[in-house]
Amino acid sequence: MAVKRVLQYGEKTLREPSKEVNKVSKKIVDLVHDLLETMYAKNGVGLAAPQIGVNYRVFVIDVSTDKEPLNPLVFINPKIIKKSGAIIAQEGCISFPEAYTDVKRYKNVMVKALDVHGKPFILEAKDGSLLARAIQHENDHLDGILFIDHCVNRFETNDILAKHKLPPIEEDMLLVEKDLDEELGKND
Ligand code: ZN
Repeated sequence: MAVKRVLQYGEKTLREPSKEVNKVSKKIVDLVHDLLETMYAKNGVGLAAPQIGVNYRVFVIDVSTDKEPLNPLVFINPKIIKKSGAIIAQEGCISFPEAYTDVKRYKNVMVKALDVHGKPFILEAKDGSLLARAIQHENDHLDGILFIDHCVNRFETNDILAKHKLPPIEEDMLLVEKDLDEELGKND
């Protein structure tokens, strides 16, 4: 168990899809502990395995505040089985130090995954909560998708990336999200 180096935007592994976990072996449990240690060391809300250079479908999240006890959540082979609503909110990522931008997300998600003991569970996160957004953000990492691919304004996002000396948006990775756009239109 150790704090690992977090890959930075521009490094190829972040864009590679991750493999399913066949068995929650000791190797996977060790990976979970590395992810948790690294996430806490970086004061992150979530961290996905590809961010420490391991392309397995595993991520961790902890949305507890400073005043609350730690509440680590472990997701192995996660699948988002339900999603609805839409919200725009500012997001960042440990792989993009100090760069934040507005992104489109579903408001509500239901996720199915295995825990660190290999036991399946279902979790629902609602109302555009930090947890709901973190699940989508981390799950994306497993498919090589990054939060900037969901950005509301590509020009503004490019300015923010430049300010933090990060490479610009990869235009061909920008997502077309008709369902989210429709939902967001309804809110106007
Ligand atoms: Zn991230």
